[in-house]
Amino acid sequence: MSRLANKEANHSFGLKEKRMPYTIVSEICEGAEDCIPVCPVDCIVWPAEEKKNAKGFKYPYIDMDTCIDCGACLAACPIEGAILDEGKPELQLV
Ligand code: SF4
Ligand code: SF4
Repeated sequence: MSRLANKEANHSFGLKEKRMPYTIVSEICEGAEDCIPVCPVDCIVWPAEEKKNAKGFKYPYIDMDTCIDCGACLAACPIEGAILDEGKPELQLV
């Protein structure tokens, strides 16, 4: 009974919340790659041509159409500010 109630509560919550893709801030990223293996939908990818930011690091980007807003990448990233929990495509240099 309580499990069902929880399920319904989660469902309602899901309907109310709008999904928001995450962003890798290319100029802050240090290419540590910790984010890539934890993404459950494999939407953190490298640019077709390898590029480096002003700090000299290569950086992946998040496919915002595929991101499911789970937060795993942000939890795994060791660089403060490299991942934002909102969609800011202008900060992803791809
Ligand atoms: S976003 Fe964070 S974990 Fe992912 S490559 Fe950049 S620095 Fe590494
Ligand atoms: S929030 Fe989740 S789905 Fe989106 S890029 Fe990060 S790990 Fe992948």
